[in-house]
Amino acid sequence: MVNTLLFADATSSLDGAVAVIFGVPYDRTSSFRSGSRLGPNAIRQASWNFEQHFMEHNRDISSVPFADIGNTEEFGPTESMVKGVRRTVGDIVGHGRIPIALGGEHSIAPACVEALPKDVGVLGIDAHLDFRNEFLGDRYSHACSARRISDHVGVQRVVYSAVRSFSREEREDLERLGLVYVSAMEVQRDGIAKAVDRALKAVDRERIYLTIDIDGIDPAYAPAVGNPEPFGITPLDVKYLINTIGDRLAGMDVNEVSPHYDHGQTAIVAARLVREALIGLGTE
Ligand code: MN
Ligand code: MN
Repeated sequence: MVNTLLFADATSSLDGAVAVIFGVPYDRTSSFRSGSRLGPNAIRQASWNFEQHFMEHNRDISSVPFADIGNTEEFGPTESMVKGVRRTVGDIVGHGRIPIALGGEHSIAPACVEALPKDVGVLGIDAHLDFRNEFLGDRYSHACSARRISDHVGVQRVVYSAVRSFSREEREDLERLGLVYVSAMEVQRDGIAKAVDRALKAVDRERIYLTIDIDGIDPAYAPAVGNPEPFGITPLDVKYLINTIGDRLAGMDVNEVSPHYDHGQTAIVAARLVREALIGLGTE
């Protein structure tokens, strides 16, 4: 782990930490606009923008001790990244702490989930269903995140929301295997509260892992992503989901921030969502 820039307010020692942040500067399966390997540090930089006090929660972030252990190595082949991330998350979870991964591309999410107990439910935010069994010959491609996560926790325990794009093959597979998803159009039509309720009821698990592909949010708010897709949900919708999960959070990642395409706004949203998750772990 080598890094000097830390996520704002990550002042806890590892021993006292409730949550542990780490970065995975990995984007080798990127298929369009690469550069999310630079995401972790862009998100860290953006995190210094915010107040320590959380107005709506009436709580300070100092009430949630968390550490930032820096970035993993850059890794070569996807299998090395998956093994490395699995080991890192296994270590964090083994000490009773909550892992928060900064991507990197969405290929990091299955590696995180695979280190968790199989009885977690997984909620995702993503424009894409990521349900391909392999993409460009790689089963751990960013385009396969929901599929690999399903392999670990079971297809019934995974729901991605904000979806507005999948292939014909993914359509056939999701219908055959019974994958539930929430489309961006459904969020727009019924409201985020109903959508989150449906997603949580579908996974039917107490502990929730949250994987946020930042492209689930509309490109107007989060333009700097690997595969931008119009007609997305809002940052406030994602905040609502995070607040609803609250201290049921078993782990989280935020991925696909590709800073070369940013004027800072995508990294700002990502950093703020991480802080929103952290404050939800507070108990006072
Ligand atoms: Mn994705
Ligand atoms: Mn996506």
